[in-house]
Amino acid sequence: MGEYKGHALILRTRDYREADRLVTFLTREEGKVTAVAKGVRKTKSKLSALVEPLTLGFFLLHRGKSLDTLVQGEIVKPYRKLQEDLLLFSYGQYFCELCEAALPEREPSPQVFMLVLAALEALESDGQPARVARCFELNLLETLGYRPAVENCLHCGSSSGSFYFDFVRDGLVCASCSTAGEGCLLSGAAVAVIRRFLNNGFHRLSVCSVPVSLNSEISQVNAALIRKALGKHKFKSFEFIQSLETENN
Ligand SMILES: [Zn+2]
Repeated sequence: MGEYKGHALILRTRDYREADRLVTFLTREEGKVTAVAKGVRKTKSKLSALVEPLTLGFFLLHRGKSLDTLVQGEIVKPYRKLQEDLLLFSYGQYFCELCEAALPEREPSPQVFMLVLAALEALESDGQPARVARCFELNLLETLGYRPAVENCLHCGSSSGSFYFDFVRDGLVCASCSTAGEGCLLSGAAVAVIRRFLNNGFHRLSVCSVPVSLNSEISQVNAALIRKALGKHKFKSFEFIQSLETENN
């Protein structure tokens, strides 16, 4: 029992009972934690401004038998730019949805915590949210222990040209080693971007050009890897992003 405090990102909130809200936090120290924020829907509670999705705060929580309770907190970073732009906000929500699916309750993962904060920062500054998303997906997979083998062909060791991505062994097979064109075809340019994302993370992301065609090649591979690693392939926010982007094209 007792209380604990620390930095946490709010991944998701949903209504609970008459006036409460259930809040899913990603804390640095305790991992993913679900807590109840009491009274935040009815009264002019001081807590209500704190329990918005995509908010980084410093929170004090009370450990309960089944559910923890939010006691107090303060906002550290509200990610205003994301809150004001529907597309950017949806990307941020997608990152949160991925974290929620990837982590079991109360299993500390400071690496995932730091990674998602870096991704939200990049989302605010980069101007190309799809590029940030592909980079985040790959680095999240790596952090969870699912780094794909993208340096060389799994058969002959060749490192250049176009490749097929073999989803059984999660790595590349070059065009000459590929027997029946198994997996999905990846251009040399897409492979170069994937390597860069995995090796450099968000560092100097803006110099890495990812036109729409490359983005869809990488997105296809990432989606399959995520499905395999997380056992989940439907992300509401991702589907919403796709509908927004189709509308705008
Ligand atoms: Zn080969």
